[in-house]
Amino acid sequence: MTQEIENTPAIAPFNTLGLHPSVLAAITAVGYEEPSPIQTQSIPLIMAGHDMIGQAQTGTGKTAAFALPILSRIDANRREAQVLVLAPTRELALQVATAFESFAAQMPTVNVVAIYGGAPMGPQLKAIRNGAQVIVATPGRLVDHLSRNGGLLSTIKYLVLDEADEMLKLGFMDDLELIFNAMPDERQTVLFSATLPASIRGIAEKHLRNPQQVKIASKTQTVARIDQAHLMVHADQKVNAILRLLEVEDFDAMIGFVRTKQATLDIAAALEAKGYKVAALNGDIAQNQRERVIDSLKDGRLNIVIATDVAARGLDVPRITHVFNIDMPYDPESYVHRIGRTGRAGRDGRALLLVTPRERRMLQVIERVTGQKVAEILLPDAKVILQARIRRLTQDLAPRVKDKENKNVELLAHLTTELNCSAEDLALALLAKTTEGQAFTLDGVEREQPVLAPRGRDNRDRDDRGGRGRDDRGGRGRDDRGERGEGGRERRAPLALSEGKVRCRTALGVRDGVAARNLLGAILNEGGLSRDAIGRIQIRESFSLVELPEEGLESLLSKLKDTRVAGKALKLRRYRED
Ligand code: ADP
Ligand code: MG
Repeated sequence: MTQEIENTPAIAPFNTLGLHPSVLAAITAVGYEEPSPIQTQSIPLIMAGHDMIGQAQTGTGKTAAFALPILSRIDANRREAQVLVLAPTRELALQVATAFESFAAQMPTVNVVAIYGGAPMGPQLKAIRNGAQVIVATPGRLVDHLSRNGGLLSTIKYLVLDEADEMLKLGFMDDLELIFNAMPDERQTVLFSATLPASIRGIAEKHLRNPQQVKIASKTQTVARIDQAHLMVHADQKVNAILRLLEVEDFDAMIGFVRTKQATLDIAAALEAKGYKVAALNGDIAQNQRERVIDSLKDGRLNIVIATDVAARGLDVPRITHVFNIDMPYDPESYVHRIGRTGRAGRDGRALLLVTPRERRMLQVIERVTGQKVAEILLPDAKVILQARIRRLTQDLAPRVKDKENKNVELLAHLTTELNCSAEDLALALLAKTTEGQAFTLDGVEREQPVLAPRGRDNRDRDDRGGRGRDDRGGRGRDDRGERGEGGRERRAPLALSEGKVRCRTALGVRDGVAARNLLGAILNEGGLSRDAIGRIQIRESFSLVELPEEGLESLLSKLKDTRVAGKALKLRRYRED
């Protein structure tokens, strides 16, 4: 029997959820101000010892939803494995392990170990033997460990299946069964997933006990007619993207939303360094200081405020023309709430949203519940930025040129005589002075803007372009995109290898009925690699090439030595072009 709990908007602060004081202290240090909806609902259930199924989109804070209560419940003084978290890929396992470490920062006896393929097994095993309480593992590698040491999981009391739907998509079903069988029955099991297909419900029926179900569902929202746009960007390039967008957006006042206190400070500092009048607003800022910031935003001493949702609550400034969702909101409700800060009093409002590849689904949910498209925009290139700068300068000078009153003809005469130059020379000198610190040529803008790797629809997109930088001139980047595909890729020879990767060859090709997805599937499942560890795959008539990580290649190839694809032996070998 499962019990569905309705999504309640009421938010209780972290300190009312029964978490361990050390965990609360760590949350404060990390800079979370309030729990997200999935956290508000999951934490009390896990604290109470229930099995549970949590369903929420990517980016809604599921990691903390299970890590915080589980860390609060473990026996920190027992040096043995107590928690097992299974995650689909090496990258996600590392992310979860890092999150656990930061939430356990005030628990000096607690250790975390990450178990994943592509790294030597010895140190991983040693960390478990040394009594790490938290194991975060990909299923494939964990099964390898189990095959050598069946008792490895005998002391586990808490099991988390994170991103369960992804694990099944990657073909880890059998591994999961092996892992369940190697675990004590007396345990608490929680499962988190963005979607709940039948296969996952099946697992839950079989392996969870009376699970409570938490679902963060979104109700339809009405949104004022606000001009909305989104830009795909990788997390580490957000500041850069913000700087570029600010150059081309015409705004009076802007509020930028981020998730943590630290982000309010970091981003405000980055913008201030570029000359913007900006302040940070977060839960640490005293009430009187907060009021000063809001007053300054109202009267134009400030133009940008970077805030957390908590700190921005109740902030109502009619001057705001732009809402910038720098970090994705946790749910569409909060998105709608955020963007409602603009377009007040019949003014035009604009809402911008940065979307990292993992968050694409949340974007779709927002579009669905608001019934509006959030148009995609591309990162402004040097040409567009230069045009915007020239436009601003023109707007700035136009009224001064027209102004008959304020013209100091004597000073002009004096200066041209004194400097022995023409009025044009003087104008050029003054232009150089007013534009100091900002380039006004294409080359100059290009040099000034750090070159960004193209930000496409996902990571693979990036790899497809062989790591070339964005071509800002003449939109050639766009042609490149149009041409991509098997044919286009093969013509572009020789292909540059991605960093840290080597090319491997198999004698299986098109004539053997092999497609890229068969190779990918076989290598993922049997090699225990994460998806992004595998680079380009090229299928030719009588052979195929696959890019694999150089590190750990020997052991990977030996793992794959009996692998069959399309009924034939894969026999992957390192391939040397010369
Ligand atoms: P999911 O697993 O649902 O995809 P994550 O757990 O990876 O989401 O969290 C996404 C991001 O949100 C992370 O950067 C995380 O640090 C941040 N985050 C999670 N909970 C909070 C919170 N309560 N306050 C601020 N940031 C949070
Ligand atoms: Mg997650």
